Amino acid sequence: MPGEFELIRRYFTPPLSSLPAAVLTGVGDDCAVLRLPPACDLALSVDTQVAGVHFHHDAEPALIASRALRCAASDLVATGAEPLGFTLALTLPAADEGWLQAFADGLQQTAAQLHCPLVGGDTTRGPLTISVQVHGSIPYDKALRRSGARAGDQVWVSGTLGDGAAALAVMEHRLLVTDEVRGYLLQRFYRPDIDFALGVHLRQLASSAIDVSDGLVADLGHICQASGVGARIRLDALPVSPLWRQVAGEQQALSWTLGGGDDYRLCFTMPARQVATLQGWPGLACIGHIVEGQGVSVVDADGVSCDTEHHSYRHF
Ligand code: ADP
Ligand code: MG
Repeated sequence: MPGEFELIRRYFTPPLSSLPAAVLTGVGDDCAVLRLPPACDLALSVDTQVAGVHFHHDAEPALIASRALRCAASDLVATGAEPLGFTLALTLPAADEGWLQAFADGLQQTAAQLHCPLVGGDTTRGPLTISVQVHGSIPYDKALRRSGARAGDQVWVSGTLGDGAAALAVMEHRLLVTDEVRGYLLQRFYRPDIDFALGVHLRQLASSAIDVSDGLVADLGHICQASGVGARIRLDALPVSPLWRQVAGEQQALSWTLGGGDDYRLCFTMPARQVATLQGWPGLACIGHIVEGQGVSVVDADGVSCDTEHHSYRHF
């Protein structure tokens, strides 16, 4: 069984040739040192996943790694930042070489896909827990925030909602689906889309942004609170995957779409005069608009208001 330093060397030291020039010092020194592009601010965010809470103990290690890095990177997208690198704080019950190799391979593959290299970390023994801290750069004062939404702005999301909650239901045998649908949902759960280019595009155009991790109503609610406005969402405009909608039933689909977590879509607001710039971005949907007042209200196709007491994920 490898010791701590052999373990780090073997599994968590990316080949030097794979590192971008901006990584001046990576794994193996006291600090990672990254060169920020000129005139850029540093954006950073940390995300922790605990076995048995955020993923199943027996999930494939490569999928756990993919999800850990993608969920953390989702915050960079919501800020309009571009990735510089990430650090990994890994707590392991044991140094199981098979598990570590699969985890490290999955992590390396995801890091390459996202152009976000592993630059350092910490390794300890304990219940399986994975913390990923992502670092990104953003030109001075261009960061997207939650606080800029104004009455009249349109509300957009970057793709289907409710897939995360449906995936969880499938994994917990609460929803029975075909293998094809199962494959789609597990993909959405473990490999949420991370589109840095969309965040970058929105820098100059969106008035606010957030990633949907706790559920649409909850996360759009954060935008409303930070911006001092309300939002009105149209039920018939919500993008829901036809792959599971029927199987789940209309009420369940609604509840997962409005209140389910783990979607890692981007939700943003934009003044109507800017929305022509969204042409050509696949999957985007306008789901409502910002109003004066507070809170998120939901109306059906006839404009009749619906109950929004849908549960969102809360840790405590
Ligand atoms: P220190 O005691 O100076 O904090 P450590 O002994 O914890 O350093 O780690 C040695 C080196 O290995 C450091 O460069 C650290 O960033 C890196 N490292 C430790 N654990 C991991 C990990 N799980 N993934 C990537 N790098 C790691
Ligand atoms: Mg040190």
